[in-house]
Amino acid sequence: MFNKILVANRGEIALRVIRAAREMGIQTVAVHSTADSDAMHVRMADESVCIGPPSATQSYLSIPAIIAACEITGAEAIHPGYGFLSENANFVQVIEDHGLTFIGPTAEHIRVMGDKITAKDTMKKLGVPCVPGSEGGVPTLEEAKRLGEAIGYPVIIKATAGGGGKGMKVAQSSEDMEKAFRTARAEGKSNFGNDEVYIEKYLTTPRHIEIQVFGDGKGNAVHLGERDCSLQRRHQKVFEEAPGPAISAEERARIGKVCADAIANINYIGAGTIEFLYENGEFYFIEMNTRLQVEHPVTEAIFGVDLVREQIRVAEGLPMSFTQDELTINGHAIEVRINAEKLPNFAPCPGRITQYHAPGGLGVRMDSALYDGYSIPPYYDSLIGKLIVHGRDRPEAMARLGRALGELIVDGVETTVPLFHALLAEADVQSGDYNIHWLEHWLETNLGDA
Ligand code: ADP
Repeated sequence: MFNKILVANRGEIALRVIRAAREMGIQTVAVHSTADSDAMHVRMADESVCIGPPSATQSYLSIPAIIAACEITGAEAIHPGYGFLSENANFVQVIEDHGLTFIGPTAEHIRVMGDKITAKDTMKKLGVPCVPGSEGGVPTLEEAKRLGEAIGYPVIIKATAGGGGKGMKVAQSSEDMEKAFRTARAEGKSNFGNDEVYIEKYLTTPRHIEIQVFGDGKGNAVHLGERDCSLQRRHQKVFEEAPGPAISAEERARIGKVCADAIANINYIGAGTIEFLYENGEFYFIEMNTRLQVEHPVTEAIFGVDLVREQIRVAEGLPMSFTQDELTINGHAIEVRINAEKLPNFAPCPGRITQYHAPGGLGVRMDSALYDGYSIPPYYDSLIGKLIVHGRDRPEAMARLGRALGELIVDGVETTVPLFHALLAEADVQSGDYNIHWLEHWLETNLGDA
């Protein structure tokens, strides 16, 4: 059993990990930049270490600073949360070289899945259905144009190192190809230091369906159903739910087994998410995230499990605490991501919180690091909280979401809460009838957000 773990993150996810550790009787170490001295994760952890100035590159992304914090405090393992170093294979390598444990997958699995071309190739070989497209990288514009004709427009050009919606461009026709190809390459180069791109058929009305998987690193793996994360702005999720309103029990069991078998086959350890586009009853793999996702609480709600606890358990070499047969779905859960952003353009809106009140009651979970008087620093992500509701069925969860949003008070900064009030009034959202483009169209029509 670990005695002490270090949480290499900030904000709500750092609290999430600290909470799980505390319930397991494990001591926690928070790390923070000078901008986060007063942050909730620092207050909540048993110990804290300042690891650098506000800039993330010099603090939350500084591998030497984080390793030093481990050595000073005697922490034996590191939980990376999501974002920052959570999918950095080199970080995992350095942790292991120092005789510490990374709470997550192996460096090798992170490397394989972090390169989208290799990931797709690996998944294809493991029997996972993929989006039709190029075999590997596409080095020249001529080749891209030839493939565009062969696959059939529209197509999407994606940077193999891309993430967070960056490095992806759609070409509607061969006339668009040159610009899309060059832009995707340039974005790959400038954001991820790698200009290799590949091409996929662009699906016009898919849903984003992702399967939560979990492995023990010894060839055992399970799936915890799907999340529907189709409501997106600029390829970023804003509203997530489980189970998916369009997925039947048979489809869930079938694709879930394909995913669990795939990761069992490679001895995957820890939590992972296999992302698909889903159109006309077919699943098409797009990528695998080798970490805990922001939206993991909806899965926790319907399965009644603590995914962070499981991550810590398997990192210690313990077995998972459930089998596939024991994982049954109970009700429906929805999460909304609350950002400190000003509508209609979603401009970041950091500042001081003059009043904060979290909603409560049956089936309500608020994961947030806010408190009265807290100042949101301008240096990091604008996510300030996740409101998760759980009901016996989807209508109950929707009603609960509306009720809980009404109780939430965040004064002092602008937030995306009004967006959710408006969305809940939409018939398509009420009925779950949406695809990955629905929200962008809605924003354009209702807020003039282009
Ligand atoms: P990232 O790593 O940047 O998150 P993903 O490959 O996961 O990129 O894709 C993010 C989103 O981009 C998807 O949820 C979907 O909305 C859109 N997308 C990706 N590939 C396609 C495709 N082939 N057709 C249509 N939309 C796509």
